Amino acid sequence: MDKRTSRIPGFYDWSLAERAARISQWASLDADEREVLGGMMGLGLSQADRMIENVVGVFALPLGIGLNFCINGRDYVIPMVIEEPSVVAGVSYAAKLLRDGGGITATSSEPVMIGQVQVLDVGDPPAAEAAVLARKSEILALADELDPVMVKLGGGARDVRVRHLRRTPVGSMMIVELLYDCRDAMGANTVNTACETLAPLIEGLTGGRVNLRILSNLADQRLAMATGRVPAELLATDEIPGPVAVERMVEACAFAVADPYRAATHNKGIMNGVDAVVLATGNDWRAVEAGAHAYAARDGRYSALSEWWQDKDGDLRGRLELPLAVGTVGGATRVHPGARVALKILGVRTARELAEVMVAVGLAQNLAAIRALTTTGIQAGHMRLHARQLAVAAGATGEQVDRVTQRMIADGVIRLDRAEELLSE
Ligand code: NAD
Repeated sequence: MDKRTSRIPGFYDWSLAERAARISQWASLDADEREVLGGMMGLGLSQADRMIENVVGVFALPLGIGLNFCINGRDYVIPMVIEEPSVVAGVSYAAKLLRDGGGITATSSEPVMIGQVQVLDVGDPPAAEAAVLARKSEILALADELDPVMVKLGGGARDVRVRHLRRTPVGSMMIVELLYDCRDAMGANTVNTACETLAPLIEGLTGGRVNLRILSNLADQRLAMATGRVPAELLATDEIPGPVAVERMVEACAFAVADPYRAATHNKGIMNGVDAVVLATGNDWRAVEAGAHAYAARDGRYSALSEWWQDKDGDLRGRLELPLAVGTVGGATRVHPGARVALKILGVRTARELAEVMVAVGLAQNLAAIRALTTTGIQAGHMRLHARQLAVAAGATGEQVDRVTQRMIADGVIRLDRAEELLSE
């Protein structure tokens, strides 16, 4: 039984070296891994040069640690890569509230991705569909031949389905979809390879012409879901009693459910947390973003990905569900030294567990935002942290950073021009 606790009071007050040492100890990092964490090693130029094209350098971002997470009865410390201040502080605060409410429960579906084969010029669509479905087992077997490793691990082709898009700008078309269990991989390469290989067989069966053969980022067969509870009394402030705080937070969520303008920002707040873990672990954040927002519009109208309500005891309850096509193998997850260390700190054993951690982080981040918005407003905490960034942007170094930051906070004027002014004084 893992006895480690992610509840580390005062962590934010420690020096960077002390924090890094504690996390290194948590994850039993070796000397090389500690150097990666400290930015001394990390992604080298020659590795970067092999990752993408036209490389001229590498680009770093801060790696922070989200604390207080208890997910499915297990404590996690969460590596988060993000340039925006207050995200990590907010999520750690919210994770503590959820922890005090009994911890976050997270579940996930099997890691099934959808590959699409676009077929045009089909003379008899119903007959073409029947022909494809009649040969389903042959199609699945052909897809499975391509990746014996995946099949050995319990993954592989699961199903074939057909959809007809009758009215598109170029007329009707038939879409043959391959459902493929990607186990611990995100699966884009695997599914794309399968779709490309299946194309000639599908052309033969349908008598049509295949155009695109590519994975869908609306990974609605690969969902992760998190729920949590916060006791009303923990939400009370000097001015606001607990039940009123719960009511305001439920109202905030109702706004996002009903209005796409608010939903976009509500969901952006969720993705502040999710993306930070996606980035830290070397996963494809564009794929996750595309999937999340498409899923938010699945009913034909863009809406909130989460819901918050008051339960029968008067406490706050929340639920978040979104597609999470993420892996612990493949892509950059094992190539990027920082991603390898982040995965080790997380200690997840499977891609499903990683998705469950990410959705839990999204739920907590959402709670943090709604909490701030319905109490002091988002700017109070954010601007204090933002002031530091502005001081640095204005050119402050060493002790100047603190001096300029403190002055801006004390005067209540937190702007770049003010930081520059203070610096020149
Ligand atoms: P991959 O091809 O690098 O790795 C998957 C391979 O790992 C599988 O073929 C499998 O044989 C092997 N493997 C070993 N152990 C495994 C395990 N436990 N579970 C599953 N597989 C295991 O990567 P991928 O996940 O197929 O593709 C991800 C990459 O594709 C990302 O870099 C992504 O950015 C990119 N991509 C994305 C899109 C898109 O989102 N639309 C399109 C193209 C490419």
